[in-house]
Amino acid sequence: MNRPQTRQTQPGKGWVQGRKDNNSGSNITTIGTPSQLLLPRLEGVIKTGKGWRARCPSHGGKSASLAITDGDNGTLLLHCFAGCPVHDVLGAVGLQVGDLFVRKDLRSMSPAERSQLRQAALLPRWRAALGVLATEANVLLIAACQLGDGEPLDDTDLTRLRVAAVRVFDAVEVLR
Ligand SMILES: [Zn+2]
Repeated sequence: MNRPQTRQTQPGKGWVQGRKDNNSGSNITTIGTPSQLLLPRLEGVIKTGKGWRARCPSHGGKSASLAITDGDNGTLLLHCFAGCPVHDVLGAVGLQVGDLFVRKDLRSMSPAERSQLRQAALLPRWRAALGVLATEANVLLIAACQLGDGEPLDDTDLTRLRVAAVRVFDAVEVLR
């Protein structure tokens, strides 16, 4: 018998009791940059011009089919040339898509950085609102053309026009 003899003293119990003093430092996880987080978990990592190549942890294989590119602000972009979805690649090494983004503490940001972040968060809403305005403008144009041709609007058309007005008001609220 070659069993290791290190487990005689009920280490599990001792470990739990040892934590009772609330070793506060142990709860603070050091958050590294996305590349610091991901690269050590991959095999066959090679540095390339724009980033790295590595073996894909999702589908395996021996070739370096996973391309890792450094995006803006430390964000990582992943692409498996065998077609694995990013979720699967990250899941295989115990990470999530959120781990590809740099986590920044709002308190440590400068006012300029904070305002930049706020604007970045607003941009998708603004784009969506502009898309709504463009669509509803088309609805109005169609109605105008129909009326111009002497064709009356039926109830469905009128309801759609009212919906258009409500959507335009909503878009204005978003853009205000
Ligand atoms: Zn893959």
